[in-house]
Amino acid sequence: MLTGGIPQHPVETTAGSFRELGLSQPIVEAVEKIGFEHPTPIQAAVIPTALQGQDVIGLAQTGSGKTAAFSLPIAERLTHGRGVRALILSPTREIAMQTKAFLDIFGADHNLSTACLIGAVKMKPQLAALKKTPDILVATPGRLLDHVMRRSVSLDAIEQLVLDEADHMLDLGFLPQMRDILRRLPRERQTMMFSATMPDTIEMIAKEFMREPVRVDITPQGAASGISHRLYVVKAEDKRPALLALLQQELGSTLVFTRRKMDADWLYHILQRQGHPVTRMHSDLSQGKRVQSLERFRKGSHRILVATDIAGRGIDVPGIEHVINFDIPETVEDYIHRGGRTARGAAQGIVSTIATWQDLAMVKQIETTLGEKIPRCAVGGIEPWVEMEKKPSRERRRV
Ligand code: AMP
Repeated sequence: MLTGGIPQHPVETTAGSFRELGLSQPIVEAVEKIGFEHPTPIQAAVIPTALQGQDVIGLAQTGSGKTAAFSLPIAERLTHGRGVRALILSPTREIAMQTKAFLDIFGADHNLSTACLIGAVKMKPQLAALKKTPDILVATPGRLLDHVMRRSVSLDAIEQLVLDEADHMLDLGFLPQMRDILRRLPRERQTMMFSATMPDTIEMIAKEFMREPVRVDITPQGAASGISHRLYVVKAEDKRPALLALLQQELGSTLVFTRRKMDADWLYHILQRQGHPVTRMHSDLSQGKRVQSLERFRKGSHRILVATDIAGRGIDVPGIEHVINFDIPETVEDYIHRGGRTARGAAQGIVSTIATWQDLAMVKQIETTLGEKIPRCAVGGIEPWVEMEKKPSRERRRV
Protein backbone atom coordinates (compact mmCIF):
# COMPACT_ATOMS: atom_id res chain seq x y z
CA MET A 1 0.00 0.00 0.00
CA LEU A 2 0.97 3.63 -0.32
CA THR A 3 3.25 5.12 2.23
CA GLY A 4 5.54 8.08 2.76
CA GLY A 5 4.86 11.29 0.89
CA ILE A 6 2.14 9.88 -1.36
CA PRO A 7 -1.37 10.75 -0.26
CA GLN A 8 -4.11 8.21 -0.77
CA HIS A 9 -7.77 8.73 -1.45
CA PRO A 10 -10.43 7.20 -3.63
CA VAL A 11 -10.05 8.06 -7.28
CA GLU A 12 -12.11 7.18 -10.36
CA THR A 13 -10.38 4.48 -12.42
CA THR A 14 -10.98 2.84 -15.79
CA ALA A 15 -11.67 -0.87 -16.30
CA GLY A 16 -8.35 -1.37 -18.14
CA SER A 17 -4.97 -2.57 -16.91
CA PHE A 18 -1.57 -0.91 -16.60
CA ARG A 19 0.03 -3.68 -18.64
CA GLU A 20 -2.03 -2.91 -21.75
CA LEU A 21 -0.80 0.70 -21.66
CA GLY A 22 2.60 -0.54 -22.82
CA LEU A 23 4.47 -0.42 -19.52
CA SER A 24 7.22 -2.92 -18.76
CA GLN A 25 6.95 -5.71 -16.22
CA PRO A 26 9.02 -4.04 -13.43
CA ILE A 27 6.93 -0.86 -13.62
CA VAL A 28 3.65 -2.79 -13.67
CA GLU A 29 4.85 -4.69 -10.60
CA ALA A 30 5.77 -1.46 -8.80
CA VAL A 31 2.32 -0.07 -9.62
CA GLU A 32 0.63 -3.18 -8.25
CA LYS A 33 2.80 -3.14 -5.15
CA ILE A 34 1.57 0.29 -4.14
CA GLY A 35 -2.03 -0.79 -4.66
CA PHE A 36 -3.08 0.80 -7.97
CA GLU A 37 -5.25 -1.80 -9.71
CA HIS A 38 -6.56 0.06 -12.76
CA PRO A 39 -5.34 3.24 -14.44
CA THR A 40 -7.29 6.46 -13.94
CA PRO A 41 -8.70 8.11 -17.11
CA ILE A 42 -5.78 10.55 -17.38
CA GLN A 43 -3.26 7.72 -16.94
CA ALA A 44 -5.02 5.57 -19.57
CA ALA A 45 -4.99 8.47 -22.02
CA VAL A 46 -1.53 9.91 -21.38
CA ILE A 47 0.72 6.89 -20.77
CA PRO A 48 0.56 5.20 -24.23
CA THR A 49 1.06 8.57 -25.99
CA ALA A 50 3.88 9.61 -23.70
CA LEU A 51 5.63 6.25 -24.15
CA GLN A 52 5.80 6.99 -27.88
CA GLY A 53 7.64 10.22 -27.17
CA GLN A 54 4.87 12.56 -28.31
CA ASP A 55 4.16 15.90 -26.66
CA VAL A 56 1.01 15.85 -24.53
CA ILE A 57 -1.29 18.48 -23.08
CA GLY A 58 -3.27 16.92 -20.24
CA LEU A 59 -6.27 18.89 -19.04
CA ALA A 60 -6.83 17.43 -15.63
CA GLN A 61 -7.34 18.53 -12.08
CA THR A 62 -5.21 17.70 -9.07
CA GLY A 63 -6.44 14.42 -7.70
CA SER A 64 -6.97 12.77 -11.10
CA GLY A 65 -3.80 10.69 -10.95
CA LYS A 66 -1.67 12.84 -13.24
CA THR A 67 1.51 12.43 -11.18
CA ALA A 68 1.66 8.76 -12.14
CA ALA A 69 0.51 9.66 -15.70
CA PHE A 70 3.82 11.45 -16.33
CA SER A 71 6.05 9.68 -13.78
CA LEU A 72 5.57 6.17 -15.20
CA PRO A 73 6.57 7.04 -18.80
CA ILE A 74 9.56 8.98 -17.48
CA ALA A 75 10.68 6.06 -15.33
CA GLU A 76 10.13 3.77 -18.32
CA ARG A 77 12.05 5.77 -20.90
CA LEU A 78 15.07 6.95 -18.92
CA THR A 79 18.22 5.00 -18.27
CA HIS A 80 20.33 5.70 -15.23
CA GLY A 81 23.61 7.55 -15.12
CA ARG A 82 23.60 9.77 -18.19
CA GLY A 83 23.13 13.12 -16.48
CA VAL A 84 19.93 15.02 -15.77
CA ARG A 85 17.54 13.81 -18.47
CA ALA A 86 14.12 14.78 -17.12
CA LEU A 87 12.83 17.96 -15.53
CA ILE A 88 9.50 18.36 -13.79
CA LEU A 89 8.49 21.91 -12.96
CA SER A 90 6.04 22.16 -10.09
CA PRO A 91 4.19 25.24 -8.85
CA THR A 92 4.69 24.57 -5.14
CA ARG A 93 7.11 22.88 -2.83
CA GLU A 94 4.47 20.46 -1.57
CA ILE A 95 3.54 19.25 -5.05
CA ALA A 96 7.24 18.87 -5.90
CA MET A 97 7.78 16.70 -2.84
CA GLN A 98 4.80 14.48 -3.65
CA THR A 99 6.10 14.03 -7.19
CA LYS A 100 9.54 13.08 -5.91
CA ALA A 101 7.91 10.46 -3.66
CA PHE A 102 6.28 8.89 -6.74
CA LEU A 103 9.44 8.96 -8.80
CA ASP A 104 11.42 7.38 -5.98
CA ILE A 105 9.06 4.40 -6.00
CA PHE A 106 8.78 3.94 -9.76
CA GLY A 107 12.38 4.77 -10.55
CA ALA A 108 13.72 2.27 -8.01
CA ASP A 109 13.66 -0.71 -10.36
CA HIS A 110 15.45 1.28 -13.05
CA ASN A 111 17.93 2.64 -10.55
CA LEU A 112 16.79 6.19 -11.33
CA SER A 113 17.52 8.94 -8.84
CA THR A 114 15.60 12.17 -8.38
CA ALA A 115 16.69 15.45 -6.81
CA CYS A 116 14.17 17.94 -5.50
CA LEU A 117 15.05 21.63 -5.89
CA ILE A 118 12.53 23.71 -3.98
CA GLY A 119 12.67 27.17 -2.46
CA ALA A 120 12.81 28.26 1.20
CA VAL A 121 15.02 25.36 2.24
CA LYS A 122 18.81 25.30 2.55
CA MET A 123 20.92 25.14 -0.59
CA LYS A 124 23.56 22.82 0.83
CA PRO A 125 21.62 19.52 0.80
CA GLN A 126 20.42 20.34 -2.73
CA LEU A 127 23.99 21.00 -3.89
CA ALA A 128 25.00 17.68 -2.36
CA ALA A 129 22.11 15.92 -4.12
CA LEU A 130 23.18 17.48 -7.44
CA LYS A 131 26.77 16.27 -6.98
CA LYS A 132 25.40 12.71 -7.03
CA THR A 133 24.32 13.28 -10.66
CA PRO A 134 20.59 12.64 -10.45
CA ASP A 135 18.66 11.50 -13.51
CA ILE A 136 15.52 13.52 -12.79
CA LEU A 137 14.94 16.97 -11.28
CA VAL A 138 11.70 18.02 -9.66
CA ALA A 139 11.87 21.76 -9.11
CA THR A 140 9.99 24.93 -8.44
CA PRO A 141 10.92 27.53 -11.09
CA GLY A 142 12.62 30.11 -8.86
CA ARG A 143 14.96 27.71 -7.11
CA LEU A 144 15.82 25.91 -10.33
CA LEU A 145 16.94 29.21 -11.87
CA ASP A 146 19.02 29.96 -8.75
CA HIS A 147 20.87 26.71 -9.38
CA VAL A 148 21.23 27.43 -13.10
CA MET A 149 22.74 30.85 -12.31
CA ARG A 150 25.17 29.30 -9.84
CA ARG A 151 26.00 26.69 -12.46
CA SER A 152 25.28 23.95 -9.98
CA VAL A 153 23.02 22.29 -12.52
CA SER A 154 23.05 21.98 -16.28
CA LEU A 155 19.89 21.65 -18.33
CA ASP A 156 21.72 20.77 -21.54
CA ALA A 157 20.83 17.08 -21.59
CA ILE A 158 17.11 17.33 -20.76
CA GLU A 159 15.06 14.98 -22.95
CA GLN A 160 11.78 15.08 -21.07
CA LEU A 161 10.06 18.08 -19.58
CA VAL A 162 6.88 18.17 -17.52
CA LEU A 163 5.07 21.42 -16.73
CA ASP A 164 2.84 20.34 -13.88
CA GLU A 165 -0.19 22.44 -12.93
CA ALA A 166 0.85 25.02 -15.50
CA ASP A 167 -2.12 27.28 -14.67
CA HIS A 168 -1.05 27.38 -11.02
CA MET A 169 2.44 28.37 -12.07
CA LEU A 170 1.00 31.33 -13.95
CA ASP A 171 -1.25 32.24 -11.00
CA LEU A 172 1.84 32.33 -8.82
CA GLY A 173 3.55 34.73 -11.22
CA PHE A 174 6.07 32.22 -12.57
CA LEU A 175 5.56 33.04 -16.27
CA PRO A 176 8.91 34.89 -16.69
CA GLN A 177 10.81 32.12 -14.92
CA MET A 178 9.02 29.43 -16.95
CA ARG A 179 9.92 31.18 -20.20
CA ASP A 180 13.50 31.63 -19.07
CA ILE A 181 13.79 27.93 -18.24
CA LEU A 182 12.07 26.80 -21.45
CA ARG A 183 14.50 28.85 -23.55
CA ARG A 184 17.46 27.15 -21.88
CA LEU A 185 16.32 23.62 -22.66
CA PRO A 186 17.40 21.60 -25.70
CA ARG A 187 14.85 21.87 -28.52
CA GLU A 188 14.94 18.13 -29.10
CA ARG A 189 12.83 16.93 -26.22
CA GLN A 190 9.44 15.65 -25.18
CA THR A 191 7.17 18.07 -23.33
CA MET A 192 4.15 17.13 -21.26
CA MET A 193 2.03 19.92 -19.87
CA PHE A 194 -0.75 19.48 -17.31
CA SER A 195 -3.26 22.12 -16.37
CA ALA A 196 -6.80 22.26 -14.97
CA THR A 197 -7.69 25.17 -17.25
CA MET A 198 -6.36 26.47 -20.59
CA PRO A 199 -6.12 30.26 -20.39
CA ASP A 200 -4.68 32.10 -23.42
CA THR A 201 -1.20 32.32 -21.92
CA ILE A 202 -1.04 28.55 -21.59
CA GLU A 203 -2.15 28.16 -25.22
CA MET A 204 0.65 30.57 -26.17
CA ILE A 205 3.24 28.57 -24.26
CA ALA A 206 1.99 25.39 -25.91
CA LYS A 207 2.29 26.98 -29.38
CA GLU A 208 5.73 28.37 -28.73
CA PHE A 209 7.35 25.53 -26.84
CA MET A 210 5.59 22.31 -27.81
CA ARG A 211 5.53 20.20 -30.97
CA GLU A 212 2.13 19.07 -32.25
CA PRO A 213 0.92 18.12 -28.80
CA VAL A 214 -1.79 15.49 -28.36
CA ARG A 215 -4.53 17.00 -26.25
CA VAL A 216 -6.26 14.95 -23.56
CA ASP A 217 -9.15 16.53 -21.70
CA ILE A 218 -10.59 14.76 -18.70
CA THR A 219 -11.79 17.80 -16.73
CA PRO A 220 -15.36 17.43 -15.51
CA GLN A 221 -17.83 19.54 -17.44
CA GLY A 222 -19.43 22.22 -15.28
CA ALA A 223 -19.41 21.57 -11.56
CA ALA A 224 -16.95 18.99 -10.29
CA SER A 225 -18.85 15.88 -9.33
CA GLY A 226 -19.32 15.04 -5.67
CA ILE A 227 -19.26 18.65 -4.42
CA SER A 228 -22.23 20.40 -2.82
CA HIS A 229 -21.84 24.15 -2.95
CA ARG A 230 -23.37 26.35 -0.25
CA LEU A 231 -23.44 30.09 0.13
CA TYR A 232 -23.81 32.00 3.40
CA VAL A 233 -24.39 35.69 2.75
CA VAL A 234 -23.93 37.58 6.02
CA LYS A 235 -23.04 41.04 7.32
CA ALA A 236 -19.28 41.68 7.43
CA GLU A 237 -19.25 41.54 11.24
CA ASP A 238 -21.01 38.15 11.14
CA LYS A 239 -18.35 36.41 9.07
CA ARG A 240 -16.40 35.18 12.07
CA PRO A 241 -19.47 33.93 14.04
CA ALA A 242 -20.68 32.25 10.82
CA LEU A 243 -17.37 30.41 10.52
CA LEU A 244 -17.50 29.29 14.14
CA ALA A 245 -21.08 28.06 13.67
CA LEU A 246 -20.14 26.18 10.49
CA LEU A 247 -17.27 24.49 12.30
CA GLN A 248 -19.77 23.27 14.90
CA GLN A 249 -22.22 22.14 12.25
CA GLU A 250 -19.85 20.05 10.10
CA LEU A 251 -17.48 18.05 12.23
CA GLY A 252 -15.26 16.41 9.61
CA SER A 253 -11.84 17.37 8.33
CA THR A 254 -12.09 21.04 7.29
CA LEU A 255 -9.92 23.36 5.23
CA VAL A 256 -10.56 27.08 5.75
CA PHE A 257 -9.31 29.54 3.12
CA THR A 258 -8.48 33.19 3.75
CA ARG A 259 -7.14 35.63 1.19
CA ARG A 260 -4.39 37.15 3.29
CA LYS A 261 -1.65 35.58 5.39
CA MET A 262 -2.42 37.89 8.32
CA ASP A 263 -6.04 36.76 8.31
CA ALA A 264 -4.96 33.12 8.27
CA ASP A 265 -2.85 33.88 11.38
CA TRP A 266 -5.71 35.82 12.99
CA LEU A 267 -8.23 33.03 12.46
CA TYR A 268 -5.74 30.40 13.54
CA HIS A 269 -5.25 32.16 16.89
CA ILE A 270 -9.00 32.67 17.40
CA LEU A 271 -9.76 29.02 16.71
CA GLN A 272 -6.89 27.87 18.85
CA ARG A 273 -8.08 30.00 21.77
CA GLN A 274 -11.51 28.42 21.42
CA GLY A 275 -9.98 24.97 21.78
CA HIS A 276 -10.29 23.84 18.15
CA PRO A 277 -7.63 21.41 16.91
CA VAL A 278 -6.31 23.79 14.26
CA THR A 279 -3.16 24.23 12.27
CA ARG A 280 -2.19 26.75 9.57
CA MET A 281 -0.36 27.11 6.31
CA HIS A 282 0.84 30.17 4.43
CA SER A 283 3.92 31.17 2.54
CA ASP A 284 5.55 33.13 5.40
CA LEU A 285 5.94 29.94 7.42
CA SER A 286 9.14 27.96 7.05
CA GLN A 287 9.12 24.81 4.95
CA GLY A 288 9.51 22.74 8.13
CA LYS A 289 6.44 24.34 9.71
CA ARG A 290 4.39 23.86 6.56
CA VAL A 291 5.31 20.19 6.34
CA GLN A 292 4.46 19.79 10.04
CA SER A 293 1.07 21.52 9.63
CA LEU A 294 0.19 19.35 6.65
CA GLU A 295 1.22 16.18 8.48
CA ARG A 296 -0.93 17.06 11.49
CA PHE A 297 -3.88 17.76 9.24
CA ARG A 298 -3.28 14.66 7.14
CA LYS A 299 -3.00 12.40 10.18
CA GLY A 300 -6.17 13.92 11.65
CA SER A 301 -4.68 15.09 14.94
CA HIS A 302 -5.75 18.59 13.80
CA ARG A 303 -9.06 18.54 11.99
CA ILE A 304 -8.94 22.17 10.83
CA LEU A 305 -6.33 23.72 8.55
CA VAL A 306 -6.41 27.46 7.85
CA ALA A 307 -4.61 28.29 4.62
CA THR A 308 -4.10 30.97 1.99
CA ASP A 309 -4.56 30.22 -1.71
CA ILE A 310 -0.90 29.82 -2.53
CA ALA A 311 -0.21 27.40 0.30
CA GLY A 312 -3.53 25.69 -0.29
CA ARG A 313 -2.62 24.71 -3.83
CA GLY A 314 -0.22 22.05 -2.66
CA ILE A 315 -2.64 20.42 -0.28
CA ASP A 316 -3.46 16.90 -1.38
CA VAL A 317 -4.99 15.36 1.69
CA PRO A 318 -7.43 12.49 1.41
CA GLY A 319 -10.75 12.80 3.11
CA ILE A 320 -11.18 16.58 3.39
CA GLU A 321 -14.93 16.79 3.91
CA HIS A 322 -15.44 20.48 4.04
CA VAL A 323 -13.81 23.48 2.38
CA ILE A 324 -14.84 26.81 3.85
CA ASN A 325 -14.12 30.00 1.94
CA PHE A 326 -13.87 32.44 4.81
CA ASP A 327 -13.04 35.04 2.17
CA ILE A 328 -14.44 34.68 -1.29
CA PRO A 329 -11.61 33.88 -3.72
CA GLU A 330 -10.30 36.58 -6.04
CA THR A 331 -10.90 34.57 -9.21
CA VAL A 332 -13.25 31.82 -10.37
CA GLU A 333 -10.19 29.60 -10.96
CA ASP A 334 -9.26 29.97 -7.30
CA TYR A 335 -12.79 28.93 -6.31
CA ILE A 336 -12.49 25.80 -8.43
CA HIS A 337 -9.02 24.99 -7.08
CA ARG A 338 -10.05 25.56 -3.46
CA GLY A 339 -13.11 23.38 -3.94
CA GLY A 340 -10.98 20.74 -5.61
CA ARG A 341 -9.30 20.05 -2.24
CA THR A 342 -12.47 18.22 -1.18
CA ALA A 343 -14.49 15.50 -2.96
CA ARG A 344 -11.21 14.25 -4.42
CA GLY A 345 -11.45 11.14 -6.51
CA ALA A 346 -14.80 9.54 -5.91
CA ALA A 347 -15.46 11.15 -2.51
CA GLN A 348 -18.19 13.63 -1.54
CA GLY A 349 -17.53 17.07 -0.13
CA ILE A 350 -19.02 20.42 0.79
CA VAL A 351 -17.75 23.82 -0.26
CA SER A 352 -19.20 26.57 1.93
CA THR A 353 -18.60 30.18 1.00
CA ILE A 354 -19.10 32.94 3.54
CA ALA A 355 -19.80 36.14 1.63
CA THR A 356 -20.97 39.69 2.19
CA TRP A 357 -23.08 41.72 -0.25
CA GLN A 358 -19.85 43.09 -1.71
CA ASP A 359 -18.90 39.61 -2.90
CA LEU A 360 -22.09 38.98 -4.85
CA ALA A 361 -20.59 40.00 -8.22
CA MET A 362 -17.92 37.30 -7.79
CA VAL A 363 -20.61 34.83 -6.68
CA LYS A 364 -22.38 35.49 -9.99
CA GLN A 365 -19.22 34.80 -11.96
CA ILE A 366 -18.67 31.56 -10.04
CA GLU A 367 -22.26 30.50 -10.68
CA THR A 368 -21.90 31.19 -14.40
CA THR A 369 -18.84 28.92 -14.55
CA LEU A 370 -20.48 26.20 -12.47
CA GLY A 371 -23.63 26.47 -14.57
CA GLU A 372 -25.79 26.39 -11.46
CA LYS A 373 -27.02 28.73 -8.76
CA ILE A 374 -25.33 28.06 -5.42
CA PRO A 375 -27.98 27.36 -2.77
CA ARG A 376 -28.29 30.17 -0.20
CA CYS A 377 -28.03 28.71 3.28
CA ALA A 378 -28.28 29.98 6.85
CA VAL A 379 -26.21 28.87 9.80
CA GLY A 380 -27.19 28.70 13.48
CA GLY A 381 -28.11 32.05 14.99
CA ILE A 382 -26.72 34.24 12.20
CA GLU A 383 -29.17 36.42 10.37
CA PRO A 384 -28.64 35.96 6.63
CA TRP A 385 -28.22 39.06 4.47
CA VAL A 386 -31.20 39.22 2.14
CA GLU A 387 -30.19 39.90 -1.44
CA MET A 388 -31.91 42.98 -2.92
CA GLU A 389 -33.91 41.41 -5.70
CA LYS A 390 -35.51 39.00 -3.30
CA LYS A 391 -36.17 41.36 -0.40
CA PRO A 392 -39.93 41.83 0.00
CA SER A 393 -41.02 45.35 0.95
CA ARG A 394 -42.36 45.96 4.47
CA GLU A 395 -45.77 46.89 3.06
CA ARG A 396 -46.06 43.70 1.10
CA ARG A 397 -45.03 41.64 4.09
CA ARG A 398 -47.81 43.22 6.15
CA VAL A 399 -50.52 42.34 3.61
P1 AMP B 1 -2.55 12.92 -8.29
O1 AMP B 1 -3.61 13.54 -9.15
O2 AMP B 1 -1.41 12.40 -9.06
O3 AMP B 1 -2.17 13.83 -7.15
O4 AMP B 1 -3.20 11.60 -7.62
C1 AMP B 1 -4.30 11.68 -6.79
C2 AMP B 1 -4.45 10.49 -5.88
O5 AMP B 1 -4.85 9.33 -6.59
C3 AMP B 1 -3.24 10.11 -5.08
O6 AMP B 1 -3.70 9.85 -3.78
C4 AMP B 1 -2.75 8.84 -5.75
O7 AMP B 1 -2.10 8.01 -4.82
C5 AMP B 1 -4.04 8.22 -6.24
N1 AMP B 1 -3.93 7.42 -7.48
C6 AMP B 1 -3.30 7.80 -8.60
N2 AMP B 1 -3.44 6.86 -9.55
C7 AMP B 1 -4.18 5.87 -9.02
C8 AMP B 1 -4.67 4.59 -9.50
N3 AMP B 1 -4.45 4.20 -10.75
N4 AMP B 1 -5.40 3.82 -8.66
C9 AMP B 1 -5.64 4.25 -7.39
N5 AMP B 1 -5.21 5.43 -6.87
C10 AMP B 1 -4.49 6.24 -7.67
